[in-house]
Amino acid sequence: MKILVLGGAGYIGSHTVYRLIEQGNEVVIFDNLETGHIEAVHPKAKFYKGDLRNRVEIDAVLDKENGIDAVIHFAANSLVGESMINPLKYYDNNLCGTKVLLESLVAHNIKNIVFSSTAATYGEPKHTPILEDDPTNPTNCYGETKKAMERMFYWTQQAHGLKYVSLRYFNACGAHISGKIGEAHNPETHLIPIILQAANGTRDHISIFGTDYNTPDGTCIRDYIHVTDLAQAHILAVKYLLNGGESNIFNLGNGVGFSVREVIETAKKVTGKEIKVIEEERRAGDPAILIASSDKAKNILGWKPEYDDLSTIIETAWKWHSTHLNGYLSD
Ligand code: UDP
Repeated sequence: MKILVLGGAGYIGSHTVYRLIEQGNEVVIFDNLETGHIEAVHPKAKFYKGDLRNRVEIDAVLDKENGIDAVIHFAANSLVGESMINPLKYYDNNLCGTKVLLESLVAHNIKNIVFSSTAATYGEPKHTPILEDDPTNPTNCYGETKKAMERMFYWTQQAHGLKYVSLRYFNACGAHISGKIGEAHNPETHLIPIILQAANGTRDHISIFGTDYNTPDGTCIRDYIHVTDLAQAHILAVKYLLNGGESNIFNLGNGVGFSVREVIETAKKVTGKEIKVIEEERRAGDPAILIASSDKAKNILGWKPEYDDLSTIIETAWKWHSTHLNGYLSD
């Protein structure tokens, strides 16, 4: 297959590119490198620097690259906290970017796209585990923009026949088994990398955001899913579309929840390091519990997570964080 990966220099994008190439596919990457890293780009992928909000730039790639079978779209901002402080940045990049992309795909007669959505589209769930047809009432602006993106794809398909698969990730984590690529956001806001930075000495402590949630230990519960398992789901979703599958939405998680305290304890065991913990106020926009049912992806896409154990997931992340103290700047 020949796949165009938008945001292929980012965290989940780069892992998906590695997986695509490992499985013998041809990959073209388009990324503005605003949050992505050129060092994360697989040497066998063809790379174009460009911004999705710029129609000329995305058109130029699609004019030049013939025979693209499908597009995988990761190019978006994805931080819950930032989206509450700077919502218009999220409307601009996530929604305006996707609008320009869709115009260009329709003009170039590309018919299949798989894109990143999120558990944040659900908001505070009515029951656990969460199913794809549960209500979507986002509690943060990031989730709101992803929900709106899903609707944009829906209506575009109605009018233009561009089929889509929306993948609602729960908490992406871990790193490529080789330790060559991993999670490196600047600033970092995600739980597992911050814990591991506290373990590798590049950060003083981990702050727990909220200890008064209605959960057994008072801290938020999340469903942590390995980035390579997410990568594989994208490839399966592309194949599903190319084999005639209809547009669809799938949750991607392990179906098991861990509290913030449990993640910290597991990281202490995996790393063998002392990790300083400070309890703080809740962070705006965080639901208490998010756990996926991924039965639909398992049944329809044939997806089966390989990394279904939190210790193993953290081990892969530690392989990256213990050797890349400053992320890609250490390379
Ligand atoms: N969290 C925390 N301290 C941190 C970062 C995150 O307590 O420094 C909590 C956060 O409030 C949430 C969970 O860890 O309950 C996962 O947060 P993350 O930002 O990793 O992912 P999100 O669930 O927001 O996508």
